[in-house]
Amino acid sequence: MGIFLIFGMPVVTFIFQNYLSEMLKKKELYGSSFLHHFDRKASIKDVIESLGVPHPLIGKLTVNGAEVGFDYILRDKDIVEATPLTPPVNPLIADILRPDPLDRIAFVVDVNVGKLAMHLRTLGFDTVYENATRDGKLAGIAYAQKRILLTRDVSLLKRKIVMHGYLLRTQDPTRQLIEVVRLYDLSSKIKPLSRCIPCNGLLVPISKETILERLEPLTRKYYESFHICEKCKKIYWPGSHQEKIVTFIQEVLTAVRQNETQDT
Ligand SMILES: [Zn+2]
Repeated sequence: MGIFLIFGMPVVTFIFQNYLSEMLKKKELYGSSFLHHFDRKASIKDVIESLGVPHPLIGKLTVNGAEVGFDYILRDKDIVEATPLTPPVNPLIADILRPDPLDRIAFVVDVNVGKLAMHLRTLGFDTVYENATRDGKLAGIAYAQKRILLTRDVSLLKRKIVMHGYLLRTQDPTRQLIEVVRLYDLSSKIKPLSRCIPCNGLLVPISKETILERLEPLTRKYYESFHICEKCKKIYWPGSHQEKIVTFIQEVLTAVRQNETQDT
């Protein structure tokens, strides 16, 4: 609970569940449940962010037991409870916190987690990743193209225009992928080998005759079925690389299932 109270000034009780409490600026001072004074008309979203918690990480907000949206205006003696995004999160369905749902699963990935972007494309997910993209531009892409922003940068998620986003909790790209697949319940939506890994373009079938002159002699000899990237024209065919991808996806799916079992 809070350190001291000021008589006559409006006060709310905040309870931050689970990892949301780790984001609090003064966690060591207050703990995950504390009293908070406010002296002006303020939305719940602004107050929560001023305490250090980025709004996209919140999965559910209640005030005195009833669910509210981010524009709720705090009142004296409110008891606010914030719960983090909890699997399965479905960004395609509107809810009280995010009335504007996405029309498909698509991501924009922060510059320092590029390997995750490649992994997501390997699984067939539409993923924007640009090496030189600045923070502000990433948030803009997430907003304009209605994409989920994945980052390890808390401040990026605090940008007002970011609606759907997630703070990756590990450094390891494969663990990050498992986190994302599990959070957004993507196991059944994986379409391996449907998207170009370097450029995010879609792969379409192409006849061998059309691309014959672009094939190495051994590829020409042993393979009959080919795909081409619509965007960069890179050619794909079944081979040892694709077998590795299928094995990788199996490992990811197994890990997602194991995590689910651990949590129940
Ligand atoms: Zn491509």
